[in-house]
Formats: sequence, structure tokens, C-alpha cells
Amino acid sequence: MSPPDPSPLDLAVAEGRRFIDSLAQRSVGPTGTHADILVPLPASLPTRGMDPADVVRTIARAAEPGLNCNNSPRFFAWVNGGALPAAQATDVLTSLWDQNAVLAATSPAAAVLEEVAAKLLLEALYLPADCAVSFTTGCQMSHAAALAAARHHVLAGAGWDVEVNGLFGAPPIRVLANAHHHGSVTRALRLLGFGTACVVPLAGDTPGRVGVEELKVALAQASGVPTIVILNAGDLNLGQSDDFAALIPLAQAAGAWVHVDGAFGLWLAASPRFAHQVAGIQLADSIASDGHKWLNTPYDCGMAITRHGEALKASMKLTASYLSQDGDTRDPMNYTPEWSRRARSLPVLAALMELGRDGLADLIARCCDHALALHDGLAALTGATSIARPIMNQGMVRFHAADGRNISDAVIAAINASGEAYFSGTTWDGERTMRMSVCNWQTSADDVRRTVAAAAHALNGLR
Ligand SMILES: *Cc1c(COP(=O)(O)O)cnc(C)c1O
Repeated sequence: MSPPDPSPLDLAVAEGRRFIDSLAQRSVGPTGTHADILVPLPASLPTRGMDPADVVRTIARAAEPGLNCNNSPRFFAWVNGGALPAAQATDVLTSLWDQNAVLAATSPAAAVLEEVAAKLLLEALYLPADCAVSFTTGCQMSHAAALAAARHHVLAGAGWDVEVNGLFGAPPIRVLANAHHHGSVTRALRLLGFGTACVVPLAGDTPGRVGVEELKVALAQASGVPTIVILNAGDLNLGQSDDFAALIPLAQAAGAWVHVDGAFGLWLAASPRFAHQVAGIQLADSIASDGHKWLNTPYDCGMAITRHGEALKASMKLTASYLSQDGDTRDPMNYTPEWSRRARSLPVLAALMELGRDGLADLIARCCDHALALHDGLAALTGATSIARPIMNQGMVRFHAADGRNISDAVIAAINASGEAYFSGTTWDGERTMRMSVCNWQTSADDVRRTVAAAAHALNGLR
């Protein structure tokens, strides 16, 4: 007798295991083309359904050449994290349990675990215990949730109930934002009906940082107007954080709500060595962040944190006769823009339990140390110029040929094609530049060494 066929689930788990176990050997970047990915897939909807195990096999085969190993320890493009073992495993369980984390009634487990995840998260980041936490799909939606709360709060202060009356005819809101704000901030403002014309960029004298005088002047220009100030903890390119201790009290004294984009930079607060860069961040009215970047949970994990739980709930809360609400346990939907949702706080809880305070502090500092070593190793190569030496886990270098041509994109492409490491580029001061970001719990000194060697090889071939 032949052994029974593996179940679709066993196949999927085996396939996933094969993938993560091969991370050290396989090409970091994808190896195939758009067309390669399509080959195994049906060209149109099959009339008759397929065998479930065959579906899993087919999809796994299709994805294979297009898998980008952002969870590899030598993936330095964009700001992508890996996945800690407990977070990854708990994410699988989250899928298998398939709980609807909308109400305490739909899943007491999801609701209670979310409360605990929120509590441990605030402790990990040294934030006030009475902050409300919204678990979202990512920092983009965290901005949306936090800025919805901000909108409610500043308009309530002007005597306007935005939940009932909307923005038509509402007092205009002014948004003063760090000029280096992320595109997701602008998009959240668009989604919330602010548009982008209300944004006043604050550029400061130090690149990436809002100036204290500049903010004072801007606040005084229209005192009494409902105002939201948006600051950065760790901007994407320079890793700069605003001077929260100086800026936040100023803004709040003028009646403004201060929101911080801390997608990854918020996590500096968990490291005694780096926390000084975000000193005062706990004064913010709201902070948006991610689990799937520096905390190393799998994707689909962000958090909005606010001192004004009542404003968040006022902007999110919904009652309908078929929903039972307001028991002793949190109803997750009152904290997020979503209705039905996966229990995405569980991998956060798992990551925080796996790391503990010391492990988290070590993860953050280790990534910063590796970023510095990686940058310095790359910048020391002939033809390389340092553009931003990491002060946290972000850095930039530029590459030139012997004749002076900027060959940064070609170097990035050659490193990526080698499969040894993976980088992305950006335009900085009008010139193509290589970015680096170290967010992975697994990145080691040996990964840094291998990556610098791959870059040296790529440069030699191009100069
Ligand atoms: C990644 C990022 C975002 C957007 O976060 P998502 O999780 O991708 O939605 C916002 N701000 C900064 C600084 C980021 O790095």
C-alpha cells in the first residue's frame, strides 16, 4: 500500500519550511520573470475545481521564481523585516484558527490576547500604560486610524462633530509636517478628506528635522486654527528623528495634536543605547508604527498608539443591533477602521514574548551596528562615496565609475543579480543612490562581510 497523500495543509507547511530553511543558500532576490511565474497557472478560471493538494503545489511552483527573500539576513532593500520563529509560527496558527477578531463575542481569545499584546507593546516601548492601541494592517492604516482620531479631536475642540457632520463646511484643519514625511502620511490625509493642499512642509536647518523656531513661527501664523503636527521618528533615508522633547510641548501648548510616523524609528525607544534619539516621543498624541518591519513579525501588522483612546474610539466606534458590544473585554473593531479581521495582534504578542525586554533591545542595537558596518564596508570600496552614514539602521552610498559616471543603479542590479544580497535605490539630491536598511533579526557580521564582498565584485565588473 502506498502512503496516504499529504493533506494540502501538510504540503503547504512543508513548502514553507523548505523555503525558510533554504534562505541561507538561495538567491536573495527573485530569479524569474513575470512570464516564469505565470507558466504553471491556469490561463483562465477552470470550469471544474482542482484537487486541493494540486492547487497548493501549483501555486507554490508558480511563486517560486518570483519569491523575494525579504526575510533573508542579506536583504537590505526598502525597510523590510524578517519573521521571528515564534511570530512566524503564531501567524500560521492565526490563519489556522481563523478567528474573526472583530468583537469580544466573535472571538474572546483574539480580543483578550489583543489586550495583552497592547499592554506588552506599551511596556516594550516605555509608552504610557493608558494609551489605546489599534492593531492595523501596517503603518499606512495606522496613519489613517491615528489621523482619524486627530481629526475628531481637533475639530471637537473647534465645536465641530466630524463624525456626524463630516468635513463639508467644517473649520479648515492645518497640517504642519516634517518635509521628509513618508508618502503614506499624505495618502492617509487624502483618504480622510484632508487632501494635500493643507500640508505645510517644515524643512528645518538640519536635513530631516523640523526646526524649533520654524515650528514656533508656523504655529503662531494661524493660532486658533485646528492644527495637526506630523513629526518623524527615523525618516526613511537619513534615519533622522525629530527633537520631540522640544517640539511636542510647543505644539501642544498651541493646541495642536502631534502625530509621529514611527514606522520603524519608534523601536529605538526599546534600546537603552538608541532611545535618546527619540527622547520625548511618549509625549506625542499619536504614533503610527509597524510590527512587520523592525519587530520582525510577518506581514500584515501595524499599530496606531494614542493617548486619546476616547478620540480613537469616537472615530471608529460603530453600533448595530446585531452586534453585541461593550462587555468587560475590548471589542477590537472599536479601535480599527476594519470590521472582520484576522487576529493580527497575536504575532506581536509572540514576538514580544520571544524577545523579552533584553532581546528586543539587543535586536534594535544589533541592526544599527550592522547597518554601520555595512555602510562603512561599502563606503570604503574604490568608487564608493558615503551619502548618509547610519545613525540608526538606515544608510546611503553612491557609486561612480573611474570616469565619474554615477553607476549606483548598475551596482545595485549587479549585486541583486548575484543573489548574494538585495538592495534598492533612490534619488537623493538629484542623484541615484543606493539605500540600505537593516531590520532583520538574523543578520550577522558574516552577512555584512559577504555583502561587502559581493558589492566589491559587482563594482570591479563595472568600473
Ligand atoms: C514603511 C513605512 C511606512 C508605511 O508602512 P506600511 O507598513 O508599509 O504601511 C510609513 N512610514 C515610514 C517611515 C515607513 O518606513
